Amino acid sequence: PRVSAKIAAGEVIERPASVVKELLENSLDASARDITVEVKGGGLELIRVGDDGSGICSEELEIAFARHATSKLESDTDLTKINTLGFRGEALPSIAAVSEVEFISRPPDKASAAYLRLAAGTVVSRGSCGAPVGSTVRVADLFSRLPARRKFLRSPQKERQLISSVVSSYAFAYPEVRFSLRMDDREAFVGSGGGDLRDVLAMVYGGEVGSAMLDLSDIEGKVKVSGLVSPPHLSRSTRGYISLFVNRRLVQSRRLTFAVEDAYKGMLMVGRHPIAVIDVRLPPDEVDVNVHPAKAEVRFRDESIVFSAVQRAVRSALLEGAPVSTGLRREGVAAGTPPSIQTATPSLWGNSTRLTPIRQPAPDSKSLPRQGLPALRVIGQLHNTYVITEGPDGMYLIDQHAAHERILFERLIAQFRDARPEVQMLLKPATLELSPRQEEALLQHSQELASHGFTVDSLGPRLCLLRAVPTVLAGGGERESLLELLDLLHEREEGRSEERILTSLACHGSIRAGKKLSMEEMRELVRQLEQVETVGNCPHGRPSVIHVSGDLLARSFRRR
Ligand code: ADP
Ligand code: MG
Repeated sequence: PRVSAKIAAGEVIERPASVVKELLENSLDASARDITVEVKGGGLELIRVGDDGSGICSEELEIAFARHATSKLESDTDLTKINTLGFRGEALPSIAAVSEVEFISRPPDKASAAYLRLAAGTVVSRGSCGAPVGSTVRVADLFSRLPARRKFLRSPQKERQLISSVVSSYAFAYPEVRFSLRMDDREAFVGSGGGDLRDVLAMVYGGEVGSAMLDLSDIEGKVKVSGLVSPPHLSRSTRGYISLFVNRRLVQSRRLTFAVEDAYKGMLMVGRHPIAVIDVRLPPDEVDVNVHPAKAEVRFRDESIVFSAVQRAVRSALLEGAPVSTGLRREGVAAGTPPSIQTATPSLWGNSTRLTPIRQPAPDSKSLPRQGLPALRVIGQLHNTYVITEGPDGMYLIDQHAAHERILFERLIAQFRDARPEVQMLLKPATLELSPRQEEALLQHSQELASHGFTVDSLGPRLCLLRAVPTVLAGGGERESLLELLDLLHEREEGRSEERILTSLACHGSIRAGKKLSMEEMRELVRQLEQVETVGNCPHGRPSVIHVSGDLLARSFRRR
């Protein structure tokens, strides 16, 4: 029994965050409205989850720790229509097999609570005590007898991040429940339990994100989709901000994540991902939740219906929420309007397009040097997005955002290599609201922030003051840059490179598409661009300059 218990525990309890997840699920299944989580030492030292739920009576306390003991199923047919988060009866015994557990519980109709203590899966003491209605589970010394498992854990910081993300995920799924999380004596967050998802989101990702999010809802037959998604101007550099739930159960699903991202097609830059909290509800017999030991994956009877419901819901939220485009949209040609260049000269703009992003020397641009641009004369701006210029051989169209991004990126790289960022003090220091993750990163990486040229003071819980930024970023986008940098620093364990960090800084500091530029500004942009070492693409890999050679123009107009 000891061996099999440990094997089972290995599947269910992979890391401290799995303990938190299982205990939260139990509290939610017990209809708790108030759940407090306390964590020490990244969860290895202590995890304590307290709830005000229905409790377990003293006679059943020990049974709850028996393998496959659950109060949530009566017969095997119940497995086809699961309404609770738990049902496998594996969590408590698995946790007990790899830690020291104390379970204190008092049902509402009892005057006192019962407690049970276990070490390495065996009961060491039991009795009764005074306690409020509900249950409290203390899990100490997790994996202390499994040094191998401990070795595979990430840094305590990463484990804390995972725990905080489990708690916030369940806070998303159950906005009416008041969650609070304390980690190493620091309040990581306290929810209101007010029932509004937007409030929870503001709590977790910050007020600005909370108010910008777009409502989402869609009912298609038996499938109901609801939640919040970010408008296209708000994005993140990882998929870690997409939270998916099926019948309020946190799930991982590549397909559904893809459905969400697919709905943003054409709206986000390469490498950017939305923020989303989406709950899919469908009858329990339409979904099989019993396919994964940690219940992290589910299987749908008809996946394509769910997929398209999610995609449609997100897409329509985006279309309703953001009718104004950045000017990149192609206008439809109404009857009677003069034919656009597109229809008039298919050889130039049609399928056989020879528009040449400048990296690959084009057949039509004979002597284009591989690096750097020739001297260019600015002619004007198109769609407040592209700068039209003339060079020695034809026309050069410059994407103002991509080009500026390239310029800033090169400068940041150069300064970073010298470890000497040029710093600009802000005239008006900016107060920023941080998400728990960002706050964590701020505490952990203050050195590194300074080395990138940021001066930031902590102002107490979840607030900071931005005093100075790298000079290249001054003049707009500083706040976003810092927030993004914090996110990146936080995720770096997952292999974020320095280059990714600089790329994202460059992106926030650069001129947006849709911004009208004066001739002077355009000349300056072009002058700077001419000096950049490698012009071809913006750091995100989009072309920044397109060359239409004189020869191509001549041929398109049949002059040759
Ligand atoms: P499962 O959740 O799959 O049923 P667990 O091992 O997580 O299995 O829990 C075993 C049983 O212990 C549950 O079925 C439930 O009856 C009881 N239990 C666990 N945690 C709580 C809690 N916080 N409040 C009330 N009952 C609980
Ligand atoms: Mg459970």
